Amino acid sequence: MSAYRTLTAADAVDYARRYAGLSDPETLINAEEVGDGNLNLVFKILDGRGISRVVVKQALPYVRCVGESWPLTLDRARIEAETLLVHERYCPQHTVKILHHDAGLAVMIQEDLSAMSIWRRELLAGRYYPQAARQLGEYLSRTLFYTSDFYQHPHEKKAEVGRFSNPEMCQITEDLFFTDPYSGHDRNSYETALEDAVAGLRTDPDLRLAVAALKHTFLTKAEALLHGDIHTGSIFVAASQLKVIDAEFGFYGPIGFDIGTAIGNLLLNYCGLPGLLGLREAAAGREQRLQDIRELWQAFAEGFQALAAENTRDLTLAAPGYAHRFLRKVWTDALGYCGTELIRRTIGLAHVTDLDTVADAAMRHECQHHALNLGKMLILAAPHIDDSSALIARIRQNG
Ligand code: ADP
Ligand code: MG
Repeated sequence: MSAYRTLTAADAVDYARRYAGLSDPETLINAEEVGDGNLNLVFKILDGRGISRVVVKQALPYVRCVGESWPLTLDRARIEAETLLVHERYCPQHTVKILHHDAGLAVMIQEDLSAMSIWRRELLAGRYYPQAARQLGEYLSRTLFYTSDFYQHPHEKKAEVGRFSNPEMCQITEDLFFTDPYSGHDRNSYETALEDAVAGLRTDPDLRLAVAALKHTFLTKAEALLHGDIHTGSIFVAASQLKVIDAEFGFYGPIGFDIGTAIGNLLLNYCGLPGLLGLREAAAGREQRLQDIRELWQAFAEGFQALAAENTRDLTLAAPGYAHRFLRKVWTDALGYCGTELIRRTIGLAHVTDLDTVADAAMRHECQHHALNLGKMLILAAPHIDDSSALIARIRQNG
């Protein structure tokens, strides 16, 4: 393990030459910093023809988009690399490959995915990847089943819960998802046109009770090693491929949280599309998002059930019908978390371009109101929505 220092572009090239495991390391000559995220340094390491060969990602000791006034644990780089290595063990086809990592330097080297595209950018442009939702469902079923008590030995599971203890990153989620939007905080960010709707979140007692239950579950329910931040900006897609990156929020938490945030980001796109493409152009994209949601859940649930039928190692959890009953609870959790993602991405600290880049102000506010209403409905109605058909019917009713 090395002592921490922030890497320059030249350091990153040197590092990749030494540790990426390439057969021709001397061809690496340049680095381009491309980090567009909120937190970290990301270098593409280029060869003489300007082609990116590997990616070097380093955590900074503070939140990049806020500055040094908000310090943040470097341990998140270890958590990210180790979560992705576990997920790769169980789902190599949909997890970015980690070629090397060093917890002291808070750095990792990843396979380069530049030939693929960030899913959110494609969704914004109205480009459809019909296989992506199913592939994401497969990623979620495999990573979440194999790290759960259905599969892991109870001693191993408890050791893993310790290894993936991620208190500082979890606190960000706890605050941004469950506290700030419902109690008012300086970090919240929204236009005055939304003021009344936001005030309504603070004064709705049923909503606050339901959000309290979701937060409590997030705090206590160590069901599986979650990705922890599975939004469409953390997913690369191509014509027949999907790869997940950026697992620095990884920890053992409720499975419904990963499912709900993933569905939530598809719904944020659903809400933004009329503003991004115009009402008429948006119709096809919206139908595709509803289909994506149906297929994501189906691939996840069928995948998880099939794995449970074949590979459950806990004799008690193998009871016929138990996996099915468990998935019903995951579904309800997922709908609630989906609602909190819709709300916090609309009025909290971290927004999404699906809503924020709608140029026309009145249209933007309409899309944002839609996301807030949908979020609120999902949080309150989650226990009464039985399956994805019922969910889609409710979404249509909501506008
Ligand atoms: P952060 O954790 O700071 O949000 P990300 O891991 O999301 O950082 O990476 C930021 C950006 O860097 C991504 O949106 C993507 O454009 C680029 N990037 C990250 N990892 C890779 C990779 N393995 N291959 C190609 N580009 C990548
Ligand atoms: Mg990140």
